Amino acid sequence: MTDDRIVTNGPRNGWNGQGVNADTKTASCPAPHSGKTPAPLPRADRGAKSPASDAGIAGNTGTSNTSNTSNIPGSSIAHASKTDASRLPSIATAPTLNSSETLDACRVGRLAPSPTGRMHIGNVYAALAAWLSVRAERPHTAADPNLPILPNHSGILRLRIEDIDTPRVRKDADRWIMDDLHWLGLDWDGDPVYQSDRFDLYDQALHDLCDAGLLYPCFCSRAEIRAASAPQEGDGYVIYPGTCARLDSTERDRRLAEKRRHSWRVHLPQEQLDFDDAVFGTQEFDLARQIGDTVLRRSDGLYAYQLAVVVDDLLMGVNDVVRGRDLLRSTALQLWIRDRMAECGWHSQPSIDTDLPAAAHHAHTATRTPHTANNFGNIPAPSAAIRFAHLPLIDDPSGKRLAKRDRALDLGVLREEGVTPESVIGYCAWLLRLRNTPEPISAHDLLKDFSWDPLRADHTDRACDPTALFA
Ligand code: GLU
Repeated sequence: MTDDRIVTNGPRNGWNGQGVNADTKTASCPAPHSGKTPAPLPRADRGAKSPASDAGIAGNTGTSNTSNTSNIPGSSIAHASKTDASRLPSIATAPTLNSSETLDACRVGRLAPSPTGRMHIGNVYAALAAWLSVRAERPHTAADPNLPILPNHSGILRLRIEDIDTPRVRKDADRWIMDDLHWLGLDWDGDPVYQSDRFDLYDQALHDLCDAGLLYPCFCSRAEIRAASAPQEGDGYVIYPGTCARLDSTERDRRLAEKRRHSWRVHLPQEQLDFDDAVFGTQEFDLARQIGDTVLRRSDGLYAYQLAVVVDDLLMGVNDVVRGRDLLRSTALQLWIRDRMAECGWHSQPSIDTDLPAAAHHAHTATRTPHTANNFGNIPAPSAAIRFAHLPLIDDPSGKRLAKRDRALDLGVLREEGVTPESVIGYCAWLLRLRNTPEPISAHDLLKDFSWDPLRADHTDRACDPTALFA
């Protein structure tokens, strides 16, 4: 397996604007979100180091909501208050991080839970896989295979609370997630990063992409799009038919002047993008045909997942991404956007110093550095290649995708029933094909033999039978 991805077709450096109305570059770029970035909370409120997610297993297809039903962009958006994570106990193995250390030559993974409810088995399964992927990595400096693997001695694992979809955020869900991760023995490095603290970065990214002529306003309603498009390959994904990309500039400006409700879409070229996945092997996507022009800022003013995740993975130096296979298509899109952002001068500036205002400032100053040949900025090429592992999805016994709204297998219920962390981890290790039976085991004890090979050999979706956990 190779870690790198290749654009096999089409322009790699510089986007040629093919397909979108040639006047797009003249479109006024989006107004800022609400003019306000929420004030950073006092440090103690923004989280404890360590105890460490859910990473896109159930319900989240990564696609954005283009609903035209809410009101004025930005202004009415409430921000969920952050949990006082400092109340959480810290894990004994938490690393001592030196803020001046850079992340060159090391794996940087992330746990990226959406705080929309309590974690369920599918979320734990994804979090465990992301944790093992980074924690089982041997140190680059001491690549002796006989050395014991200890947690926190190799890769870096960040916790990012993906709370930009504010209507779906549940109060205290960030605290439940951190507490459950701690209970499971899954730790992370540095302070949690809250996406709701980073609206100014997303805004800057949106403007840079717009200035590069890559975006256009889309006035279509969801119903109009659905009526004009054919869903893709049975998975319900709807490819935008390009209606507003073909608007002439006079009509587009007229609608903007009338303040017609609109989202902002990125125009994807007819280009093939390939990447390698540790579980599903080589993936090839025809960007225009299989993904289509995608919303980066929703018509309700909220930044789309697809934009925020690219900004954050880039600026946080993430090079190890583990999440559900429902995001394979999003990976191709995100890689393409990431390359365009690099051309706009955005570089990876990973630092273990996770103080958010400092990181945001750092990133802002970094956005204006000239583009270099290495799209990954200051991470040296050997460690820069992003490693992806997409996981089979987990269904309930009736074959329905696990979702946070069905509390049946959430950790609140399991913990109340007296299920042990080892039982949950053992069950998830079995779902990950790391064990032949769902016997209890600690996360730490899985490190030694961790490999993607068994999952690669059998990556069909799997049904989850809760009775095994209560045995
Ligand atoms: N917050 C997303 C989820 O919980 C994670 C998506 C990702 O890993 O990029 O589904």
